[in-house]
Amino acid sequence: ATPAATMVGTTIGAKYGVLFKGGDVLERAKDVDTVVFDKTGTLTEGEMELTDVVAFDRDGDPIPDGGTASRAPSDDDLSAPDADHDPKNEVLRLAATAERGSEHPLARAIVDGAEARGLEVPEPDGFENVPGHGVRATVDGDEVLVGNRKLLRDNDVDPSPAAEEMERLESEGKTAMLVARVPAGTNEGRLVGIVADADTVKPSAADAVAALRDRGIDVMMITGDNERTARAVAKQVGIDPENVRAEVLPEDKSAAVEAIQSDGRQAMMVGDGVNDAPALAVAYVGTAIGSGTDVAIEAADVTLMRDDPLDVAKAIRISDATLQKIK
Ligand code: ADP
Ligand code: MG
Repeated sequence: ATPAATMVGTTIGAKYGVLFKGGDVLERAKDVDTVVFDKTGTLTEGEMELTDVVAFDRDGDPIPDGGTASRAPSDDDLSAPDADHDPKNEVLRLAATAERGSEHPLARAIVDGAEARGLEVPEPDGFENVPGHGVRATVDGDEVLVGNRKLLRDNDVDPSPAAEEMERLESEGKTAMLVARVPAGTNEGRLVGIVADADTVKPSAADAVAALRDRGIDVMMITGDNERTARAVAKQVGIDPENVRAEVLPEDKSAAVEAIQSDGRQAMMVGDGVNDAPALAVAYVGTAIGSGTDVAIEAADVTLMRDDPLDVAKAIRISDATLQKIK
């Protein structure tokens, strides 16, 4: 584009909070044929809230509300009289204490949810982050695991008794996390419960997907979250199930974008987080949205100042209109 056209496009963009990092970006954006959205914080608000707590008895069956474990309480039984009586509160207390050391939005929602229910959440005695999988902490002298199925399997705890409850929560679009306890000095870990967080889809997310598809653009979603949760959210916003890339580890996001582009696609990656910076950098156009982190904004070619996914289509339209005019 001529410097004059670039200036017009850049100025129009700025009016809508769509910031192009230079004239070549403004030119490239119109040729985007695929938009890849990050899920959390981009299509969703990114404000997790604790929604469910499930406690399992020693047979791996969910304990109904107000119930106690099916067997006589033993020393380490969650329903033991000294364990706060309510097995769900005990699961939540363990999970929240373990998550206290984590900055992850999933963790913060668990701690906030526990405190909102009047539980005391002390610092754990030990804490380790397992990126993309969960946390491992020391609580009451025992090891406590909070995270996905792989975290439990990697620590020799069988997640399968929770399968039905996990699937139920995930098909509601929630992120369900397993809670397991490994008594000190043993490797006899036991699944004790599930905590689930939910996030809300942004009000304009479905319209944004529809606007892009109307232009003939293929819309995809990428997330570290599990397949079932990811697909439930995709369905809410109108993204096809086969266009969902789930369980992508933070360090693998850029490789996933490269794989999408490997057949000559020109993808715009839209993300908000620190995790997203490498993926924004390898995309044909990298777009940072809203309250995005500085790292994401730095790596991006386009920054959307407002937290509105509809501005993705607007960025492409501005590019298109600017270059049409100068032909
Ligand atoms: P996202 O891309 O959605 O931010 P992450 O890559 O951070 O996801 O994490 C992927 C999955 O690992 C989560 O969906 C969750 O199951 C698990 N996980 C990550 N961090 C934690 C945590 N602090 N507590 C429990 N589970 C976690
Ligand atoms: Mg995100």
